[in-house]
Amino acid sequence: MYTRIYILRFPKDIVDQPIICQLVKQFDVEFNILKATILPQHEGVMILELRGHRENIKKGLSYLKGLDVKAESIATSIHRDDERCFQCGACTGICPTGALALKRPEMAVIFDAEKCSGCGLCVTVCPVKAMEVSLDRISGFSESAFDVH
Ligand code: SF4
Ligand code: SF4
Repeated sequence: MYTRIYILRFPKDIVDQPIICQLVKQFDVEFNILKATILPQHEGVMILELRGHRENIKKGLSYLKGLDVKAESIATSIHRDDERCFQCGACTGICPTGALALKRPEMAVIFDAEKCSGCGLCVTVCPVKAMEVSLDRISGFSESAFDVH
């Protein structure tokens, strides 16, 4: 199973259509809406976790692209709050790319943002929510602009 988190931007003329449901119906891709909002100029924006076979996700994204929906991976928006991280190591076992890894002999948990693919698995597994998606780094948004789902 392949998991990725994407930021989707919907043009205003399709913002009220149930397009996302088609990902399940047509492409067998599960989704989880993490955040969603409609901006003042009526562009719709969603942060969406997609789960499924890699090829199906690819097809689903192509479908969205055909509807003029822009999708970008949140890989560059993942960061670690070093004040919260207490080096428990839980994330290192789940990170598929080695972006989170144990450094020996210090046994320190290192986060290498360059290796991060944006799968979001560490965000869900971290017991103190030290791994975060930095919404303020996403152009046009602030945390307060979102309705939490
Ligand atoms: S799971 Fe969270 S607290 Fe534990 S090492 Fe990873 S980032 Fe730090
Ligand atoms: S650090 Fe690893 S687990 Fe976390 S989002 Fe990046 S690739 Fe996924």
